[in-house]
Amino acid sequence: MLRVAVVGSGPSGVYAAQTLVQQREVPGVRVDVLDRLPAPYGLVRYGVAPDHEKIKSLQGSLRTVLEDERIRFLGNVEVGGAALPAARLLELYHAVVYCVGAARDRMLGIPGEDLAGVHSATAFVSWYSGHPDAAAEAFGLPGVDAAVVVGAGNVAVDVTRILARGAAGLAPTDMPQPALAALADSGLRTVSMVARRGPSQARFTTKELRELGTLPGVDARTDPAELALDPVYADPDAAAALPAVARRNLEVLRGWAAAAPAAGPRRIALRFYLRPVEVLGGPDGRVTGMRFERTAPDGRGGVTGTGVHEDVEAQLVLRSVGYRGVPLAGLPFDPVTGTVPHAAGRVLRAGRASVGEYVAGWIKRGPTGVIGTNRPCAKETASSLLQDAGVLSRRALPGDPLDALRAAGLRPVEWPGWMAIESAEADLGRSLGRRSVKIPDWPGLLAAAGAPPAL
Ligand SMILES: Cc1cc2nc3c(=O)[nH]c(=O)nc-3n(C[C@H](O)[C@H](O)[C@H](O)COP(=O)(O)OP(=O)(O)OC[C@H]3O[C@@H](n4cnc5c(N)ncnc54)[C@H](O)[C@@H]3O)c2cc1C
Repeated sequence: MLRVAVVGSGPSGVYAAQTLVQQREVPGVRVDVLDRLPAPYGLVRYGVAPDHEKIKSLQGSLRTVLEDERIRFLGNVEVGGAALPAARLLELYHAVVYCVGAARDRMLGIPGEDLAGVHSATAFVSWYSGHPDAAAEAFGLPGVDAAVVVGAGNVAVDVTRILARGAAGLAPTDMPQPALAALADSGLRTVSMVARRGPSQARFTTKELRELGTLPGVDARTDPAELALDPVYADPDAAAALPAVARRNLEVLRGWAAAAPAAGPRRIALRFYLRPVEVLGGPDGRVTGMRFERTAPDGRGGVTGTGVHEDVEAQLVLRSVGYRGVPLAGLPFDPVTGTVPHAAGRVLRAGRASVGEYVAGWIKRGPTGVIGTNRPCAKETASSLLQDAGVLSRRALPGDPLDALRAAGLRPVEWPGWMAIESAEADLGRSLGRRSVKIPDWPGLLAAAGAPPAL
């Protein structure tokens, strides 16, 4: 038997486990999927926007994999901490596949970023997704009339949409009740989503952009003068040469610029060619706005500052300028790329493949691509592992790793524990007159899972 630990139950971890048990070359592979959270599915549960039900429903196919009898889910097990160092994990298994994601946000690196009311999109996403590490009270929104979202990717679009959508559109989701109540009570009227470069360079996809323009009670606008700064905008030949997504995005924005204002209590303003310079604050230490420098195309695909500044009012600022991986103690890490060095998924230590250590997903290739991109990525890693199986399986293991985890003071939440959380969330939703509603805190999750108290 080949016993493998997959660390992380997001898409890459689940796809790696699936590939390992569903192949035929190496019989008898058994996989434990470990996660530091009591709940599986990684960012599909704690990142994908709650109002995107179709993508959320991917949890169903991940669940089918984790219910395979050759796979065991062990939640509430953090790897790399004092209780379970990476080296100890490798003693318990023939091989370990690290699929720990890359969900740390990047900073803007400008003055005022530490003012109250300035947050990463990651923190905001974690809050409305009910991640148990997010502080429940982090986003009191009373007094917030205007928000600025810095960034032009799909996560920036997600947080803009969640801020603008209003309670009626969010109540059918599994959003935790405190987050739903805070968004419902907010008097927010304007969300400005601001990009440093031009519309043809934005990274959001057309479906997500278009959706912003269809939200009930929301007027989605963009400034025709800012669109016109993009050299591609007025040049049909150059526009025709753009990738299809950028071309379609421009068409949507052209429509927004030409449309008559829509009636409604809220407004989304999509702004371009503005570089963040400083977050402005009041005497109480809270954000009051953001200062931007207008930029202009530099003719080489980048932008250059113009020295002209513009202040945009905001009582809430969310930065959404990219993700990066965090080092896991005991595992090599490249601080430049924010990933674990590897060759075809084999972890490299000092340039050489480390026996029994593998990596897949965002921590392998960086935070790019959609959920499906993790499937071929995980397959490549699993194939490398299976090629090495002959050597790896020669080592005798000390017994069932679950006993060793418990002996180390860990309290793994197994599949029945996760099922109990799911059913507690359904009960919570019923009691609130909603569908299933997430439990957003550690004590609540562990109590629902029936996990024994800490030793
Ligand atoms: C806000 C947001 C929205 C997104 N929306 C979409 C979308 O709508 N559609 C789409 O296709 N893609 C979307 N994505 C991208 C998608 O979520 C990623 O491609 C995918 O989740 C990456 O998978 P992963 O397995 O590498 O990492 P993750 O999904 O992050 O999973 C990593 C797992 O590892 C666990 N872990 C971390 N450290 C440890 C440790 N030390 N010990 C044990 N466990 C650990 C984590 O708890 C987590 O469960 C979104 C991403 C973000 C950030």
